[in-house]
Amino acid sequence: MIAATLTSKRLLSEASQTWELSFTCSEPLTYQPGQFYSFVTERDGKQEVRAYSLTQAPDGDRMVLCLNRAGWYSNLLCDLEPGGTVQVQGPYGGFVLREGPGIILADGVGIAPVAAMADALLRAQRNAGSLHLLHTASSESELFYRERFEQAERELAGFHYQPLVGVEMAPRLEEILQPGDEKPTAYIVGLNAFAAPLRQWFKDRGWDRRQIVFERYD
Ligand SMILES: Cc1cc2nc3c(=O)[nH]c(=O)nc-3n(C[C@H](O)[C@H](O)[C@H](O)COP(=O)(O)OP(=O)(O)OC[C@H]3O[C@@H](n4cnc5c(N)ncnc54)[C@H](O)[C@@H]3O)c2cc1C
Repeated sequence: MIAATLTSKRLLSEASQTWELSFTCSEPLTYQPGQFYSFVTERDGKQEVRAYSLTQAPDGDRMVLCLNRAGWYSNLLCDLEPGGTVQVQGPYGGFVLREGPGIILADGVGIAPVAAMADALLRAQRNAGSLHLLHTASSESELFYRERFEQAERELAGFHYQPLVGVEMAPRLEEILQPGDEKPTAYIVGLNAFAAPLRQWFKDRGWDRRQIVFERYD
């Protein structure tokens, strides 16, 4: 188990109570951008585990999360004060970039693992090939890490960013994905009500399940 001590916290959105939390860990973290760690705790004598994606490229013992207050454990984390410690295990998960063209669809705090991917591409100044990112949010203030993605669009050939407020995702997909074009890998992340219909959208249009990288938060 790795001990993670909170070093700073920043409120990203008052409306959705979304926080960015930065921790220093008891050992360096080795993970692929897009992966998550399991936060392990106890409640009424029973072990409880919650997953949180890391929002930055691997950076020694530093760990940064983006989470909203949803229920029991996320409230505990958001209420943690600097110096407070939690226990984590990991890394886990297959929500990582593959070779070849991709289209990434994220909603709300589902953007967290994508922020790590963009951070890694920016640090390496790596050509993104063809990577379209569509981020839907309920308001402008929920477009977390917008500056990072705009920087990626400016600096990395092939990186395209569409922030979408109060807009349906499917019509945008129809614009980007032309019939007959090579099928990009579809990366979908967010709450199930957002992610599941989009996965079906791709399946209905002939995407094989191996071409869909899917991560649901609930
Ligand atoms: C692979 C993976 C990665 C994840 N990464 C993140 C992350 O980077 N940031 C993050 O905020 N959460 C993330 N989650 C969700 C997180 O693990 C918890 O489920 C979430 O914080 C709710 O736990 P809780 O104890 O606060 O709420 P619970 O008491 O367990 O109640 C959860 C309820 O809140 C609703 N809900 C509202 N918002 C969320 C949300 N964001 N996630 C889950 N449920 C929600 C659910 O529908 C459910 O009804 C991830 C989940 C998975 C499986």
